[in-house]
Amino acid sequence: MKEQLHTIPVNEAFDAGDECPFCYLQRQAEQRIIRYVAGPGASYMEPEVRLATDKAGFCREHMKKLHDYGNTLGAALILQTHYARLLEQFRKDAADFTPPGKKSLLGKRKEGESSDLPRRIRQQSCSCYVCDKIDYNMDRYYHTFCVLTKEAEFRTKVESGKGFCLRHFGELLAAAEERLPNGQYEWFYTTVFPLMERQLVRVKEDLDWLIAKYDYRNASLPWKNSQDALKRAMQKVEGLYPADPAYQMEK
Ligand SMILES: [Zn+2]
Ligand SMILES: [Zn+2]
Repeated sequence: MKEQLHTIPVNEAFDAGDECPFCYLQRQAEQRIIRYVAGPGASYMEPEVRLATDKAGFCREHMKKLHDYGNTLGAALILQTHYARLLEQFRKDAADFTPPGKKSLLGKRKEGESSDLPRRIRQQSCSCYVCDKIDYNMDRYYHTFCVLTKEAEFRTKVESGKGFCLRHFGELLAAAEERLPNGQYEWFYTTVFPLMERQLVRVKEDLDWLIAKYDYRNASLPWKNSQDALKRAMQKVEGLYPADPAYQMEK
């Protein structure tokens, strides 16, 4: 298989034996982005990077990861200007705020008389610099997957793998529908659906056995593959690594 720069990480992820190669790629991308944002390269001191983080901010999950990464001064500087921007926006919103129309006796407001502010505040707290960059990277990985399915060797790798988590399977299916030519798309749905089912069943059986092991009658029986079944089952459903330690900068 001819390896090109963008196909290497995708091939590596499929060789890693993970419950989902796209979880594996996403974790790599996330750590790379956090390291880029708050790490030793100090890109947070570059005006264009800071402008972008000021504007997008961070979702709850990545705010926490930014904290846990452990560069206190770097994260504080990133937060300082983002915070100032939010404070300025808040002052403007508070000054411009006009209370919506009064509720009728039935407790309803007339159409168009609700305030727009709650929606905008919610939007801001979901917006995230790290998520945006992850999405961009993941889109390229799905694209690379679609390109690689031309190669028999890669298709065999997929077929002998552990399938995908449901979250990434949904994304992959959408990408395959959009990007794969008919022949490869046929391979995709005739292969990947049964593969997904087999692999989901495998993890379910591991989870079932983990639970059965808590029955004292099974105490002397082997654990088989069930000891880490909880975290793998969570990954299969939601595409995360619940047992991962916090990703931290090298001390
Ligand atoms: Zn996944
Ligand atoms: Zn995020």
